[in-house]
Amino acid sequence: MESGTAESGIQSAGSTNGSGTVGGETLDVLNPATGELVATLPVDSPDAVAETVARVRSNQPEWEAIGIEGRYRWLAQLRDWLLDNQDRVLDTMQMETGKVRADASNEPAYLADLINFYGAKAAKFIGEEGIRPHSALLAAKKLRVQYRPHPVVGIISPWNFPLILSAGDAVPALQAGAAVVIKPSEFTPLGLAEVVEAWKQEIGGPDVLDCVQGIGETGGALVDAADFVQFTGSDRTGRKVMARAAETLTPVSLELGGKDPMIVLADADLDRAANAAAWGGMMNSGQICMSVERIYVEEPAYDEFVAKLTAEVGRLRQGADDARSPKDVGAMTSPNQTAIVEDHVNDALASGARALTGGKRVEGPGDYFEPTVLVDVDHSMKVMRDETFGPVVGVMRARDSEEALRLANDSRYGLSGSVFGEKERAERVARRVECGAVNVNDVLVNYLASDVPMGGWKESGIGYRHGEPGIKKYCRTESVVITRFGAKREPTWYPYTRARRGLVNRIAQAFNARDLKRRLGMRG
Ligand code: NAD
Repeated sequence: MESGTAESGIQSAGSTNGSGTVGGETLDVLNPATGELVATLPVDSPDAVAETVARVRSNQPEWEAIGIEGRYRWLAQLRDWLLDNQDRVLDTMQMETGKVRADASNEPAYLADLINFYGAKAAKFIGEEGIRPHSALLAAKKLRVQYRPHPVVGIISPWNFPLILSAGDAVPALQAGAAVVIKPSEFTPLGLAEVVEAWKQEIGGPDVLDCVQGIGETGGALVDAADFVQFTGSDRTGRKVMARAAETLTPVSLELGGKDPMIVLADADLDRAANAAAWGGMMNSGQICMSVERIYVEEPAYDEFVAKLTAEVGRLRQGADDARSPKDVGAMTSPNQTAIVEDHVNDALASGARALTGGKRVEGPGDYFEPTVLVDVDHSMKVMRDETFGPVVGVMRARDSEEALRLANDSRYGLSGSVFGEKERAERVARRVECGAVNVNDVLVNYLASDVPMGGWKESGIGYRHGEPGIKKYCRTESVVITRFGAKREPTWYPYTRARRGLVNRIAQAFNARDLKRRLGMRG
């Protein structure tokens, strides 16, 4: 087990904040908006993880056997439960994340939509396929491909979207017929635990979905026990997960960090571009893998865009909100992240950058960083190179679209990006951004278009969510080659005689050659 620190929130049972769990470690969950302790949970040991995986594994064949429609009927009940109980789940999630209500409320809505999407599309994406043989030599064969799930999918999630990035990955896995065990982030385990408990108790769903609690040791044990690992988190931990999975040759899908660029062309609608940059950079306090973190503006539009962006960001209301006084920007969910954001901003300011608004941590209670717009930045600074994952954008002037593209692509990450400008020109530029998804005249919205895949290039990940690849990845392909008719012996079988070999060669040549002479067995 990683050593317990105040930052990780992990405590031994005997510590002052311990829940009284006997003989094991516990996790303290704090409210980042106030710093208060909201819950203490027992940590699952590696043995407990193995037991949970074995239990759901034993129920998986029956889950697979009920078919796509049968599984959708259960998932539809989960959708209805989420819609009926959103307030309860949102209260819990706000408490553990410090999000404002508007940001939190995206999560149940996304899940409901995703259940509907895969419910409607699963048969098309992973239903059995009949394939026409490519060669007349295979005319006697019937070719089928079936998609069989990995029996147990292990999901390891981060803290920034505690439901979307845990239950959201479970939806296609369950729809594919896998059993699922999720290890949520140690900072935000409560909302998901509530949903899993509802699946078990209130919905009475089959015992093929569970969660385990803990940090690295628990996550590692899940990697060891699962048949497929869906990991979302930092590239640092992603490398460890992949290395561990290599020990058992377990396939992984990694959704990692980003440093998403936005390009603003001179012919853009600058009001829309500035409002989008403010929302895309500050939503969820900038704690989104696809947040707008770097902005490159064509020279003629730079001053006006920066003025509009600074005004919009400067107007944002920050703090803990409630129904009577909504806020725009919430807390930083992990204290570790606040320290990284502060380091990036201070590094930039020390190297000559200017904060046109924001620029520092907010005095407590709670853990907040001011929404910040930095200018006079360059690619020697951490804030333009490393993932900041906070409410901070850096804006640079670009001579033209070519320079903007060169700067946008100058990153080890390649998750997503956006281009604002006259539609056709913006689209031409967007197609050259090196990343897994790019939005033209919008930000973040590709995540809601679950019709199209989303995955990272470069060090932003391996594999895809959404669309066909987002469910197929949870399946193993099984090709079934069925002989419709045949003699007692095929010409290619024993015994090998000169006559039979000659016949096989002549037939193969006749089918493979593409000119008459060779088909007739002559040289070309
Ligand atoms: P993290 O890498 O610190 O932790 C992610 C998860 O891994 C947590 O559940 C953690 O407990 C677990 N973990 C830690 N050590 C482990 C180990 N040795 N073995 C197995 N599991 C282990 O990430 P975080 O700080 O929780 O999340 C922020 C990061 O997630 C950012 O880099 C962000 O960009 C990324 N992210 C990516 C996407 C995406 O879709 N690409 C989405 C959201 C967040």
